[in-house]
Amino acid sequence: MQGKRRTCLVAPCGAGKTVIMAWMAAQSAIRGQSVLFAVHRQELIDQSSETFKALGVQHGIIAPGLSGNDELVQIGSIFTVARRLTKLSPPAVIIYDEAHHSTANTWRKLMAAFPEAFVIGLTATPARLDGSGLGAIFESLVLGPSVKQLIEWGNLAPFQYYAPPIKANLEGLRVRYGDYVKSEIEFRMDQSEIIGDVIEQYKKLANGKRAICYCVSRVHSEHTAEMFKAAGIPAIHIDGETQAPVRKAAIEQFRSGEIKVLCNVDLISEGFDVPAMEAVILMRPTQSLTLHIQQSMRPMRPDTDNPDKVAIIIDHVGNCYRHGLPDEDRDWILEGKKKNSQGQREISLRQCPKCYVAHRPSPVCPGCGYLYKASVQSDPEQRKGELVKIDEIDRKKRRQEVGKARNITDLEQIALRRGYSLRWISKMAEIKQIMR
Ligand SMILES: [Zn+2]
Repeated sequence: MQGKRRTCLVAPCGAGKTVIMAWMAAQSAIRGQSVLFAVHRQELIDQSSETFKALGVQHGIIAPGLSGNDELVQIGSIFTVARRLTKLSPPAVIIYDEAHHSTANTWRKLMAAFPEAFVIGLTATPARLDGSGLGAIFESLVLGPSVKQLIEWGNLAPFQYYAPPIKANLEGLRVRYGDYVKSEIEFRMDQSEIIGDVIEQYKKLANGKRAICYCVSRVHSEHTAEMFKAAGIPAIHIDGETQAPVRKAAIEQFRSGEIKVLCNVDLISEGFDVPAMEAVILMRPTQSLTLHIQQSMRPMRPDTDNPDKVAIIIDHVGNCYRHGLPDEDRDWILEGKKKNSQGQREISLRQCPKCYVAHRPSPVCPGCGYLYKASVQSDPEQRKGELVKIDEIDRKKRRQEVGKARNITDLEQIALRRGYSLRWISKMAEIKQIMR
């Protein structure tokens, strides 16, 4: 890594991150270097320990009540490690899982304590929740395979992304600490008719399939689960407060298919693994790209029992429009994106008026084969006059529609239908003096 001490490796879910890390740890150990593999959640300790074991990588565990062993490779809870800094012998290599957390204080403390260590961070999204980059921590960025490649190789299931018309009023949401104010989105999403529509779309697009439903808050998640149940669809809500045995039982029932819809807020994110899950329902509008990628890609893990699986993503809040589809080509950089809207990338998506599939601009809808009007193939000479007419009427209609737009959501809907970019929205909002 050309003398760079701190490298961030970008690998989407499905790239086999834990295996990559286990391999790197093993390679270092073979060279006699000590490795600290730092993770920030109990589940991740268990999971990586299992993978390391399966790959024959001897290791110890540093966690509450566990103080590691003499092996060169140690898997450590970041918080436990941070409390025992003076007692630990300095590792030659530190590997960070979920490195997008690495600007947090604890992680900085660790790096400051072991300034000589080589640091390798792994993440699917080298950006912080607030959109800032990881440039303060890492000196170089190495890009692993892209989501597109992983789908091609069969490491991820292909997906169909649906963006039904947004029923909730998401006008004028305020942003705090890098994401929408929770109480505001809760109020707008936690409405019977909106949840009712979510259930309708589930029945239409993913009926009987196991789905994770990401909600805004606990109350919202509980309501959603209740309403699914009332509609005859086995559903349950779990969260961080749910007692461990109850939570475990719920996940087991979900795994076995007894429960179809698992409602939660953000519990089911990093390190939750149910390959049989086929669908995800997005009910939480977010400004966070990291969260969007984590949530939308959740059902894309391939299922050996179901090799033809196509993950179904139902986005009720237009997150795809803010952040793009899961397989969007992303130009990751270590510096954060600029604070103003001009710093955002252009995302141009089209929403099929017939089946609501959101897709990159193309003459035919990949979901249902719907042929977009402008691309009707026929005798060009004969069609010419007609097309001009349609164009004029269309243009007028289009102008009127933009004229009628009252808020950002209206503009987003228009842009989504027409395949316009984020920049168009910002520009229109400016012209129309609509506040974000
Ligand atoms: Zn379609």
